[in-house]
Amino acid sequence: MKIGIPGGLLFHKYEPFIRTFFNEMELDVEYSVKSSKEILDLGIRNCVDEACLPMKLFHGHTAKLQKTCDYTVIPRIMKCEFGESICPKFQGLPELVSGGTGRSNQIFTEPIYMNDQRKLKKALKKSSRLIGVSDKKMEKAFSSAMENQRNTSFGLNENNYRHKIFLAGHPYNIYDSFANMNLLQKLHNLDVGVITEESVSRYEKMEALSGLIKRPYWLFFINNFAPAMALIKKKEINGIIYISSFCCGTDSIIIEMIKNRLGSFPLLVLKIDEQTGEAGYNTRLEAFREVLK
Ligand code: SF4
Repeated sequence: MKIGIPGGLLFHKYEPFIRTFFNEMELDVEYSVKSSKEILDLGIRNCVDEACLPMKLFHGHTAKLQKTCDYTVIPRIMKCEFGESICPKFQGLPELVSGGTGRSNQIFTEPIYMNDQRKLKKALKKSSRLIGVSDKKMEKAFSSAMENQRNTSFGLNENNYRHKIFLAGHPYNIYDSFANMNLLQKLHNLDVGVITEESVSRYEKMEALSGLIKRPYWLFFINNFAPAMALIKKKEINGIIYISSFCCGTDSIIIEMIKNRLGSFPLLVLKIDEQTGEAGYNTRLEAFREVLK
């Protein structure tokens, strides 16, 4: 049996866990990690038109793997590490993908609560049993995967450039160089370094949220709004670039909330979808560098 693992959406964030878990269970696994024009075209053909670019890319990775694999792993993430909520599309991902691709040969679709290790283990055990992995082997793989995930550090904090900005957005837009049209390289060429939300501690994020009437419950809100406020307060950045997916519901609120607090502090919002042209994108980055100067 061959199992396909699509590399889109939160794969990057949980990659150490995923790779260790499947390796240790000694399964025959194929990954599709690097996005490309071919993946995007497949995604457009196999996904509803209204979906955001990251969803289309995820569908593209899955459709590619469906050609060679017996099953694809389509996680249903309900909550993230600290119990925060995530975009509802993640919770309905197995149904979205089977509706889009017309195939439902999926595994590991049990609801996943990253904030509850007991529940997480139970869900993964249930799915592992379905493909004939013993509980003993699964438990050993789970422990190693958790350890590897805990010991891996994420995020960017670049200080060797003339300017420094907070690069906000979802991890699948920040770390997928195809989706963001090589944004990091383009910024470096303009002498702009970046810091990402992973480099801001949980404590600093919570402190930055303390002035709000109500504590937000969206993970993406906390990971974008709070670091922006914390980094401005620490005078660590000269500007903010928010890379956002066209038609993303959560972004539409987060960006307004950030704008509302910024006054004249430089902010550039880059909306991306499958139609985004590179020439206009480059011009906006160059113009923003002038603003930073
Ligand atoms: S949070 Fe936004 S970009 Fe991410 S999957 Fe949901 S709609 Fe798409």
